[in-house]
Amino acid sequence: MLASVLQRGRHLSVVPLVVFPLPVHMSRVYADANAIRGKSWYEYNKFRIEWSTPERYEIVRRLGGGKYSEVFEGVDTVNSERCVIKVLKPVAGHKIKREIKVLRNLAGAPNCIALLDVVRDPSRLYHSLITEYVENADWSQLYTRLTDADIRHYMFQLLTALDFVHSHGIIHRDVKPANVMIDHQRRELRLIDWGLAEFYHPGVEYHVRVGSRHYKPPELLVGYKRYDYSLDLWSTGCMFAAMIFRKQHFFRGSDNDDQLLKILRVLGTERFDAYLKAYDIPYETDIEELLGSYPARPWTRFITADNAPLASPDALAFVDRLLRFDPRERLTAAEAIAHPYLSTVRVEGLEARGAERLGVCEYEWG
Ligand code: AMP
Repeated sequence: MLASVLQRGRHLSVVPLVVFPLPVHMSRVYADANAIRGKSWYEYNKFRIEWSTPERYEIVRRLGGGKYSEVFEGVDTVNSERCVIKVLKPVAGHKIKREIKVLRNLAGAPNCIALLDVVRDPSRLYHSLITEYVENADWSQLYTRLTDADIRHYMFQLLTALDFVHSHGIIHRDVKPANVMIDHQRRELRLIDWGLAEFYHPGVEYHVRVGSRHYKPPELLVGYKRYDYSLDLWSTGCMFAAMIFRKQHFFRGSDNDDQLLKILRVLGTERFDAYLKAYDIPYETDIEELLGSYPARPWTRFITADNAPLASPDALAFVDRLLRFDPRERLTAAEAIAHPYLSTVRVEGLEARGAERLGVCEYEWG
Protein backbone atom coordinates (compact mmCIF):
# COMPACT_ATOMS: atom_id res chain seq x y z
CA MET A 1 0.00 0.00 0.00
CA LEU A 2 1.08 3.53 -0.70
CA ALA A 3 2.58 5.33 2.23
CA SER A 4 0.07 8.07 1.62
CA VAL A 5 -2.81 5.73 2.25
CA LEU A 6 -4.15 6.56 5.65
CA GLN A 7 -6.60 4.85 7.90
CA ARG A 8 -9.29 6.94 9.47
CA GLY A 9 -9.30 4.64 12.47
CA ARG A 10 -5.73 5.63 13.43
CA HIS A 11 -6.91 9.19 13.92
CA LEU A 12 -9.46 8.23 16.50
CA SER A 13 -9.28 9.68 19.95
CA VAL A 14 -11.99 8.71 22.41
CA VAL A 15 -14.90 7.01 20.72
CA PRO A 16 -18.15 6.50 22.60
CA LEU A 17 -18.70 2.78 23.01
CA VAL A 18 -22.17 1.65 22.04
CA VAL A 19 -23.12 -1.81 23.22
CA PHE A 20 -25.69 -3.76 21.22
CA PRO A 21 -27.12 -7.10 22.25
CA LEU A 22 -26.94 -8.54 18.72
CA PRO A 23 -23.83 -9.29 16.67
CA VAL A 24 -23.17 -6.32 14.39
CA HIS A 25 -23.52 -8.36 11.23
CA MET A 26 -27.09 -9.41 11.89
CA SER A 27 -30.27 -7.60 10.99
CA ARG A 28 -32.28 -6.38 13.99
CA VAL A 29 -35.44 -7.67 12.30
CA TYR A 30 -36.56 -10.51 10.04
CA ALA A 31 -33.13 -12.16 10.27
CA ASP A 32 -34.68 -15.63 9.86
CA ALA A 33 -37.28 -14.67 7.23
CA ASN A 34 -35.71 -16.97 4.63
CA ALA A 35 -34.70 -19.76 6.98
CA ILE A 36 -38.27 -20.18 8.23
CA ARG A 37 -39.63 -20.32 4.66
CA GLY A 38 -37.13 -22.90 3.49
CA LYS A 39 -34.99 -23.45 0.41
CA SER A 40 -37.86 -23.44 -2.07
CA TRP A 41 -38.40 -19.81 -1.12
CA TYR A 42 -34.90 -18.50 -1.62
CA GLU A 43 -32.92 -20.95 -3.77
CA TYR A 44 -33.65 -19.16 -7.01
CA ASN A 45 -31.08 -21.13 -9.06
CA LYS A 46 -33.13 -24.28 -8.71
CA PHE A 47 -36.33 -22.53 -9.69
CA ARG A 48 -37.91 -23.78 -12.94
CA ILE A 49 -39.54 -21.14 -15.08
CA GLU A 50 -42.41 -21.79 -17.48
CA TRP A 51 -41.96 -19.28 -20.28
CA SER A 52 -44.77 -17.89 -22.43
CA THR A 53 -44.22 -17.00 -26.08
CA PRO A 54 -44.14 -13.33 -27.09
CA GLU A 55 -47.07 -13.11 -29.61
CA ARG A 56 -49.56 -12.11 -26.93
CA TYR A 57 -47.82 -8.77 -26.20
CA GLU A 58 -47.31 -5.83 -28.55
CA ILE A 59 -44.89 -2.99 -28.05
CA VAL A 60 -46.46 0.48 -28.05
CA ARG A 61 -43.51 2.76 -27.20
CA ARG A 62 -40.15 2.79 -25.47
CA LEU A 63 -40.19 4.04 -21.87
CA GLY A 64 -36.52 3.83 -21.02
CA GLY A 65 -33.64 1.54 -20.56
CA GLY A 66 -30.44 0.96 -18.71
CA LYS A 67 -27.50 -1.34 -18.23
CA TYR A 68 -29.61 -4.46 -17.87
CA SER A 69 -32.84 -3.86 -19.75
CA GLU A 70 -34.95 -1.98 -22.27
CA VAL A 71 -38.39 -1.02 -21.03
CA PHE A 72 -41.47 -0.57 -23.23
CA GLU A 73 -45.10 0.25 -22.77
CA GLY A 74 -47.06 -2.61 -24.28
CA VAL A 75 -50.50 -4.01 -24.71
CA ASP A 76 -51.78 -7.45 -23.83
CA THR A 77 -53.72 -8.44 -26.95
CA VAL A 78 -55.86 -10.95 -25.05
CA ASN A 79 -57.51 -8.42 -22.74
CA SER A 80 -56.39 -5.11 -24.36
CA GLU A 81 -54.83 -4.03 -21.07
CA ARG A 82 -51.78 -1.84 -20.94
CA CYS A 83 -48.65 -3.44 -19.57
CA VAL A 84 -44.90 -2.91 -19.28
CA ILE A 85 -42.54 -5.13 -21.26
CA LYS A 86 -39.09 -5.22 -19.69
CA VAL A 87 -36.71 -6.89 -22.14
CA LEU A 88 -33.70 -8.17 -20.21
CA LYS A 89 -30.40 -7.80 -21.98
CA PRO A 90 -28.58 -11.12 -22.22
CA VAL A 91 -27.42 -11.16 -18.60
CA ALA A 92 -26.31 -14.01 -16.42
CA GLY A 93 -29.06 -16.61 -16.16
CA HIS A 94 -28.95 -16.60 -12.39
CA LYS A 95 -29.76 -12.89 -12.34
CA ILE A 96 -32.86 -13.39 -14.48
CA LYS A 97 -33.97 -16.25 -12.26
CA ARG A 98 -33.40 -14.17 -9.14
CA GLU A 99 -35.51 -11.26 -10.42
CA ILE A 100 -38.35 -13.57 -11.43
CA LYS A 101 -38.24 -15.55 -8.19
CA VAL A 102 -38.33 -12.35 -6.15
CA LEU A 103 -41.28 -11.01 -8.15
CA ARG A 104 -43.15 -14.32 -7.86
CA ASN A 105 -42.52 -14.45 -4.12
CA LEU A 106 -43.84 -10.93 -3.85
CA ALA A 107 -47.09 -11.60 -5.74
CA GLY A 108 -49.81 -9.55 -4.06
CA ALA A 109 -47.34 -7.48 -2.02
CA PRO A 110 -48.66 -3.98 -1.24
CA ASN A 111 -47.21 -1.15 -3.34
CA CYS A 112 -44.93 -3.46 -5.33
CA ILE A 113 -45.19 -3.85 -9.08
CA ALA A 114 -47.06 -7.03 -10.08
CA LEU A 115 -45.45 -9.52 -12.42
CA LEU A 116 -48.06 -10.67 -14.97
CA ASP A 117 -46.10 -13.00 -17.23
CA VAL A 118 -42.61 -14.04 -18.33
CA VAL A 119 -41.81 -14.37 -21.99
CA ARG A 120 -38.96 -15.91 -23.98
CA ASP A 121 -38.52 -15.62 -27.73
CA PRO A 122 -38.04 -18.79 -29.81
CA SER A 123 -34.29 -18.17 -30.14
CA ARG A 124 -34.16 -18.25 -26.29
CA LEU A 125 -31.93 -15.20 -26.36
CA TYR A 126 -34.37 -12.59 -25.13
CA HIS A 127 -36.27 -12.81 -21.88
CA SER A 128 -38.95 -10.32 -20.97
CA LEU A 129 -40.92 -9.57 -17.85
CA ILE A 130 -44.48 -8.40 -18.31
CA THR A 131 -45.61 -6.23 -15.41
CA GLU A 132 -48.53 -3.96 -14.66
CA TYR A 133 -48.33 -0.45 -16.07
CA VAL A 134 -48.31 2.60 -13.80
CA GLU A 135 -49.36 6.00 -15.09
CA ASN A 136 -46.19 7.49 -13.70
CA ALA A 137 -45.44 11.16 -13.25
CA ASP A 138 -41.83 12.19 -13.93
CA TRP A 139 -40.37 12.32 -10.44
CA SER A 140 -38.04 15.28 -11.02
CA GLN A 141 -41.12 17.38 -11.86
CA LEU A 142 -43.49 15.77 -9.38
CA TYR A 143 -41.24 16.11 -6.31
CA THR A 144 -41.09 19.89 -6.73
CA ARG A 145 -44.84 20.18 -6.20
CA LEU A 146 -45.57 17.57 -3.55
CA THR A 147 -47.36 18.93 -0.50
CA ASP A 148 -46.62 17.95 3.08
CA ALA A 149 -49.65 15.62 3.02
CA ASP A 150 -48.51 14.04 -0.27
CA ILE A 151 -45.04 13.32 1.08
CA ARG A 152 -46.43 11.62 4.19
CA HIS A 153 -48.85 9.64 2.03
CA TYR A 154 -46.20 8.35 -0.38
CA MET A 155 -43.66 7.69 2.37
CA PHE A 156 -46.26 5.54 4.08
CA GLN A 157 -46.81 3.57 0.88
CA LEU A 158 -43.09 3.12 0.20
CA LEU A 159 -42.45 1.96 3.77
CA THR A 160 -45.42 -0.39 3.61
CA ALA A 161 -43.86 -1.98 0.53
CA LEU A 162 -40.47 -2.23 2.23
CA ASP A 163 -41.80 -3.69 5.47
CA PHE A 164 -43.57 -6.39 3.49
CA VAL A 165 -40.56 -7.11 1.30
CA HIS A 166 -38.15 -7.23 4.24
CA SER A 167 -40.47 -9.39 6.31
CA HIS A 168 -40.30 -11.84 3.40
CA GLY A 169 -36.50 -11.95 3.46
CA ILE A 170 -35.76 -9.68 0.50
CA ILE A 171 -33.61 -6.52 0.19
CA HIS A 172 -34.47 -4.34 -2.82
CA ARG A 173 -30.97 -2.75 -3.03
CA ASP A 174 -31.90 -0.05 -5.55
CA VAL A 175 -34.47 2.22 -3.92
CA LYS A 176 -34.37 5.59 -5.69
CA PRO A 177 -36.90 7.96 -7.28
CA ALA A 178 -36.57 6.35 -10.74
CA ASN A 179 -37.65 3.04 -9.23
CA VAL A 180 -40.62 4.45 -7.36
CA MET A 181 -43.55 4.86 -9.74
CA ILE A 182 -46.18 7.32 -8.58
CA ASP A 183 -49.61 7.62 -10.15
CA HIS A 184 -50.42 10.98 -8.62
CA GLN A 185 -54.02 11.03 -9.86
CA ARG A 186 -54.83 7.79 -8.09
CA ARG A 187 -52.33 8.55 -5.28
CA GLU A 188 -50.79 5.12 -5.72
CA LEU A 189 -47.12 4.20 -5.44
CA ARG A 190 -45.39 1.09 -6.80
CA LEU A 191 -41.82 -0.03 -6.17
CA ILE A 192 -40.31 -1.37 -9.41
CA ASP A 193 -37.10 -2.87 -10.76
CA TRP A 194 -36.23 -5.94 -8.74
CA GLY A 195 -33.15 -6.72 -10.84
CA LEU A 196 -30.78 -6.07 -7.94
CA ALA A 197 -32.97 -7.51 -5.19
CA GLU A 198 -31.38 -10.24 -3.07
CA PHE A 199 -32.39 -12.74 -0.38
CA TYR A 200 -31.03 -11.86 3.04
CA HIS A 201 -29.16 -14.44 5.12
CA PRO A 202 -27.42 -13.31 8.34
CA GLY A 203 -23.65 -13.13 8.12
CA VAL A 204 -23.45 -13.57 4.33
CA GLU A 205 -21.12 -11.22 2.45
CA TYR A 206 -22.86 -9.46 -0.42
CA HIS A 207 -21.57 -7.35 -3.32
CA VAL A 208 -21.04 -3.72 -2.43
CA ARG A 209 -21.29 -2.58 -6.05
CA VAL A 210 -25.07 -2.32 -5.97
CA GLY A 211 -27.52 0.56 -5.81
CA SER A 212 -27.27 3.99 -7.38
CA ARG A 213 -24.61 6.39 -6.19
CA HIS A 214 -26.75 9.16 -4.67
CA TYR A 215 -28.76 6.59 -2.70
CA LYS A 216 -25.89 4.34 -1.55
CA PRO A 217 -25.55 3.95 2.20
CA PRO A 218 -22.21 4.35 4.00
CA GLU A 219 -21.75 0.58 4.34
CA LEU A 220 -21.52 0.22 0.56
CA LEU A 221 -19.20 3.21 0.27
CA VAL A 222 -16.74 1.79 2.82
CA GLY A 223 -16.97 -1.74 1.40
CA TYR A 224 -18.79 -3.41 4.31
CA LYS A 225 -20.33 -6.58 2.87
CA ARG A 226 -22.48 -7.93 5.67
CA TYR A 227 -25.27 -5.49 5.15
CA ASP A 228 -28.99 -6.15 5.49
CA TYR A 229 -32.47 -4.69 4.94
CA SER A 230 -31.41 -1.40 6.58
CA LEU A 231 -29.63 -0.55 3.32
CA ASP A 232 -33.06 0.22 1.80
CA LEU A 233 -33.91 2.52 4.72
CA TRP A 234 -30.89 4.72 4.02
CA SER A 235 -31.96 5.07 0.38
CA THR A 236 -35.48 5.87 1.55
CA GLY A 237 -34.01 8.51 3.89
CA CYS A 238 -32.17 10.09 0.95
CA MET A 239 -35.39 10.22 -1.05
CA PHE A 240 -37.26 11.67 1.88
CA ALA A 241 -34.61 14.34 2.54
CA ALA A 242 -34.74 15.34 -1.14
CA MET A 243 -38.52 15.68 -0.91
CA ILE A 244 -38.73 17.75 2.27
CA PHE A 245 -35.75 19.99 1.45
CA ARG A 246 -36.81 20.30 -2.20
CA LYS A 247 -33.52 19.16 -3.69
CA GLN A 248 -33.19 16.90 -6.69
CA HIS A 249 -30.78 14.62 -4.79
CA PHE A 250 -29.92 15.25 -1.15
CA PHE A 251 -26.39 13.79 -1.22
CA ARG A 252 -25.11 14.46 -4.71
CA GLY A 253 -21.61 12.99 -5.04
CA SER A 254 -19.70 12.98 -8.33
CA ASP A 255 -18.15 9.56 -7.58
CA ASN A 256 -18.22 7.12 -4.66
CA ASP A 257 -15.55 8.98 -2.64
CA ASP A 258 -17.27 12.29 -3.19
CA GLN A 259 -20.56 10.64 -2.23
CA LEU A 260 -19.10 9.64 1.14
CA LEU A 261 -17.66 13.13 1.56
CA LYS A 262 -21.08 14.70 0.96
CA ILE A 263 -22.48 12.44 3.68
CA LEU A 264 -19.63 13.22 6.12
CA ARG A 265 -20.20 16.92 5.68
CA VAL A 266 -23.79 16.56 6.85
CA LEU A 267 -23.65 13.79 9.48
CA GLY A 268 -20.18 14.65 10.79
CA THR A 269 -16.99 12.64 11.13
CA GLU A 270 -17.34 11.89 14.84
CA ARG A 271 -20.29 9.57 14.22
CA PHE A 272 -18.57 8.11 11.16
CA ASP A 273 -15.50 7.20 13.18
CA ALA A 274 -17.66 5.66 15.90
CA TYR A 275 -19.44 3.61 13.23
CA LEU A 276 -16.16 2.35 11.70
CA LYS A 277 -14.94 1.38 15.14
CA ALA A 278 -18.14 -0.38 16.23
CA TYR A 279 -18.07 -2.52 13.08
CA ASP A 280 -14.30 -2.89 12.98
CA ILE A 281 -14.18 -1.56 9.43
CA PRO A 282 -10.62 -0.93 8.19
CA TYR A 283 -11.50 2.04 6.04
CA GLU A 284 -8.54 3.42 4.08
CA THR A 285 -8.30 6.40 1.79
CA ASP A 286 -5.65 8.64 0.32
CA ILE A 287 -8.11 11.44 -0.26
CA GLU A 288 -7.16 14.34 1.96
CA GLU A 289 -10.71 15.68 2.27
CA LEU A 290 -12.04 12.35 3.49
CA LEU A 291 -9.53 12.44 6.35
CA GLY A 292 -10.70 15.87 7.50
CA SER A 293 -12.92 16.56 10.49
CA TYR A 294 -16.44 17.83 9.94
CA PRO A 295 -19.04 18.66 12.56
CA ALA A 296 -22.55 17.22 12.27
CA ARG A 297 -24.86 19.83 10.78
CA PRO A 298 -28.24 20.29 12.44
CA TRP A 299 -31.11 19.45 10.09
CA THR A 300 -32.56 22.94 10.62
CA ARG A 301 -29.61 24.27 8.57
CA PHE A 302 -31.30 22.95 5.41
CA ILE A 303 -34.55 24.85 5.93
CA THR A 304 -35.24 27.57 3.37
CA ALA A 305 -38.23 29.85 2.77
CA ASP A 306 -39.28 27.48 -0.02
CA ASN A 307 -39.16 24.20 1.90
CA ALA A 308 -40.17 25.40 5.39
CA PRO A 309 -43.76 24.05 5.24
CA LEU A 310 -42.38 20.55 4.45
CA ALA A 311 -39.38 20.54 6.80
CA SER A 312 -41.53 20.52 9.95
CA PRO A 313 -40.05 19.47 13.31
CA ASP A 314 -41.53 15.96 13.00
CA ALA A 315 -40.14 15.66 9.45
CA LEU A 316 -36.67 16.59 10.74
CA ALA A 317 -36.98 14.11 13.60
CA PHE A 318 -37.94 11.46 11.03
CA VAL A 319 -35.08 12.12 8.60
CA ASP A 320 -32.68 12.10 11.53
CA ARG A 321 -33.71 8.52 12.38
CA LEU A 322 -33.32 7.28 8.81
CA LEU A 323 -29.98 8.83 7.86
CA ARG A 324 -27.70 7.17 10.40
CA PHE A 325 -24.27 5.69 9.69
CA ASP A 326 -24.91 2.70 11.92
CA PRO A 327 -27.49 0.51 10.15
CA ARG A 328 -28.84 -0.71 13.48
CA GLU A 329 -29.60 2.85 14.54
CA ARG A 330 -31.70 3.42 11.43
CA LEU A 331 -35.42 2.90 11.78
CA THR A 332 -36.64 -0.36 10.33
CA ALA A 333 -39.52 0.00 7.87
CA ALA A 334 -42.03 -1.07 10.55
CA GLU A 335 -40.59 1.40 13.06
CA ALA A 336 -40.69 4.15 10.44
CA ILE A 337 -44.38 3.40 9.78
CA ALA A 338 -44.97 3.75 13.54
CA HIS A 339 -43.11 7.09 13.76
CA PRO A 340 -45.21 10.14 14.76
CA TYR A 341 -44.40 11.74 11.37
CA LEU A 342 -46.73 9.21 9.77
CA SER A 343 -49.42 9.14 12.46
CA THR A 344 -52.12 10.80 10.32
CA VAL A 345 -51.55 8.70 7.21
CA ARG A 346 -51.02 5.54 9.24
CA VAL A 347 -54.62 5.50 10.43
CA GLU A 348 -55.97 6.07 6.89
CA GLY A 349 -53.55 3.60 5.36
CA LEU A 350 -54.22 0.81 7.82
CA GLU A 351 -57.97 1.36 7.59
CA ALA A 352 -57.74 1.13 3.80
CA ARG A 353 -55.98 -2.22 4.18
CA GLY A 354 -58.47 -3.56 6.69
CA ALA A 355 -55.88 -2.97 9.44
CA GLU A 356 -54.46 -6.42 8.79
CA ARG A 357 -50.98 -5.23 9.71
CA LEU A 358 -51.88 -3.22 12.80
CA GLY A 359 -49.73 -5.54 14.88
CA VAL A 360 -46.47 -4.66 13.12
CA CYS A 361 -45.77 -1.39 14.88
CA GLU A 362 -44.68 -2.10 18.40
CA TYR A 363 -41.96 0.49 18.52
CA GLU A 364 -42.33 2.96 21.35
CA TRP A 365 -41.90 6.67 20.87
CA GLY A 366 -40.90 8.43 24.06
P1 AMP B 1 -36.19 0.56 -15.38
O1 AMP B 1 -35.13 0.21 -16.37
O2 AMP B 1 -36.89 -0.64 -14.79
O3 AMP B 1 -35.72 1.53 -14.32
O4 AMP B 1 -37.33 1.34 -16.23
C1 AMP B 1 -37.02 2.42 -17.09
C2 AMP B 1 -38.16 3.41 -17.07
O5 AMP B 1 -39.37 2.81 -17.58
C3 AMP B 1 -38.52 3.90 -15.68
O6 AMP B 1 -37.72 4.94 -15.21
C4 AMP B 1 -39.96 4.33 -15.87
O7 AMP B 1 -40.02 5.62 -16.43
C5 AMP B 1 -40.48 3.32 -16.88
N1 AMP B 1 -41.19 2.25 -16.21
C6 AMP B 1 -40.65 1.12 -15.71
N2 AMP B 1 -41.60 0.33 -15.15
C7 AMP B 1 -42.77 0.97 -15.29
C8 AMP B 1 -44.12 0.67 -14.95
N3 AMP B 1 -44.45 -0.46 -14.32
N4 AMP B 1 -45.07 1.56 -15.27
C9 AMP B 1 -44.74 2.69 -15.92
N5 AMP B 1 -43.50 3.03 -16.28
C10 AMP B 1 -42.50 2.19 -15.99
